[in-house]
Amino acid sequence: MPPDEKDVPPERVKWIPRSRDADKPPALPGIHRYASFTNLTDRMTTPALNRAVMVGVGAAVALDVLRPIALGMWDAAYCYECRACYATQEKCPASITFQAELTVACRTMDYRRFINNRGLLCFRCGNCTGFCVQHLDLAGIYGKMGTATVRALRAGKIPFDVVEEALSEGRIGREYVDAFYEWYREHGGRKLG
Ligand code: SF4
Ligand code: SF4
Repeated sequence: MPPDEKDVPPERVKWIPRSRDADKPPALPGIHRYASFTNLTDRMTTPALNRAVMVGVGAAVALDVLRPIALGMWDAAYCYECRACYATQEKCPASITFQAELTVACRTMDYRRFINNRGLLCFRCGNCTGFCVQHLDLAGIYGKMGTATVRALRAGKIPFDVVEEALSEGRIGREYVDAFYEWYREHGGRKLG
């Protein structure tokens, strides 16, 4: 840069109210349209906000993938919720009708959803596996989620009312019922049965 150019102060841009900016198409006589999302000069704060939102979305997606991986249920992340597995119907000996709900609960580590959809009654027979278009080992996934649910129960991550309702309505399988009932009584639950 020539030395004399360095001394020239930058030209000041005159601020024009958006409503009077002649470069904008008119909306009403004397009022020019303000297009906040298409005009970058109008976006004083939104770039930072956009970045924050994108970081949030990225973190949520990463968590969705990382949580099942951490618990050995990485294949649940491949479920694309097509619900083809609902075709299992009477071939499920535990009368589970919404296998996809269970798979999504495993992917998101949603214990309440898993319990309420009878996931703790799964026998791991594998009959639903043949209906999964992604060939996911559904029986294996539900088994791992059952173990994770008991761990979550002991860590106090499952609300008392969810446990009570599941016990009262017979939604806890033989394999898990002792752990659930013991926890329930320790936390002031009434005697059942
Ligand atoms: S693996 Fe579980 S959900 Fe699938 S058919 Fe067997 S009992 Fe039902
Ligand atoms: S069929 Fe497989 S991929 Fe489709 S919803 Fe069921 S578990 Fe998910």
